Amino acid sequence: MVFCKSMMLTTIIALASCAPVAAPKLAPSTDTISTIDNMAEEDLPKSVDFRKIFPSWYVAVEPFRIVGSETSGVYYVGTEGLAVYLIQTDDGHVVIDGGMPGQGQYVADAIRKLGFDPVDIKILLNSHAHLDHSGGLAALKQLSGAQMIASEGDRSALEGGFYLGSESDTARNAPPVKVDRIIADGEVVEHGGVKLTAHITPGHTRGCTSWTMVVERAGRSHEVLFFCSATVAANRLIGPPQYEGIVDDYRKTFAITKDWQPDMFLSNHPEFFGMAEKRKTQLAGDPEAFVGKGDFPKFITKMAVDFDAGLKKQELKHNAVMSE
Ligand SMILES: [Zn+2]
Repeated sequence: MVFCKSMMLTTIIALASCAPVAAPKLAPSTDTISTIDNMAEEDLPKSVDFRKIFPSWYVAVEPFRIVGSETSGVYYVGTEGLAVYLIQTDDGHVVIDGGMPGQGQYVADAIRKLGFDPVDIKILLNSHAHLDHSGGLAALKQLSGAQMIASEGDRSALEGGFYLGSESDTARNAPPVKVDRIIADGEVVEHGGVKLTAHITPGHTRGCTSWTMVVERAGRSHEVLFFCSATVAANRLIGPPQYEGIVDDYRKTFAITKDWQPDMFLSNHPEFFGMAEKRKTQLAGDPEAFVGKGDFPKFITKMAVDFDAGLKKQELKHNAVMSE
């Protein structure tokens, strides 16, 4: 990758412990991307109404091809507020993320709508172990038997189904999913002619993983980035932190990503890269609608500024409490 010159190619294969895997219901598909509202009740968070707080997470989007050709490419199979990606390969599919708990069915239906079979998912990847991106993975794994690949830093949260550092807050739980293979920073997942490189960009979670790949379109190569996240969001940065070393990790991620200039910037929340506007441009006939080298640098610069502001806010609050 042009934008990741200093990556170390190391391989750590660790044996995952056998955490019990919940079995969310996967009803046979009806017609139905609109079945997003038919989530199994037991899979929904118990005490926080995420539907009210984040309604866009539950709004269906017609699945579509972002980039590629008839035989290979990257497709969008998420909702309006939560991205899920399908990558077509010569041997089944790779899927990145699974949406909220209960949305495995939605993703499976979106894949069918594109003319593919979700049973053919061979590899599941995760940007990070928070319920809005990992919630549907167990269901997709159960449906397809796919191999779950994730970072060591996020393994415990995925297999335990909890939000690291907020284990007692069950509203943020997700169905546990067993990790079959651990990837390290710079390691490549190669499958069916597709190569995806893992970049550990920690902070938002301990094992937050961004992925990069090259996609060919009309004789041109596009470097595609699936960025994990760098928002502070619900994370405690101090007193006590969400996890040890979180502030240093955020700073590390801003340093790592400083010079990244992917041709195409995608991420797990569509608003990060202005998906709605780009999709409109694409529908209007622009095949390069999602291409834009300046998009990620602009985004990550703002993230770094927001992080400093978020840290300062938490420090002021912490100091005020301490001096009471
Ligand atoms: Zn998150």
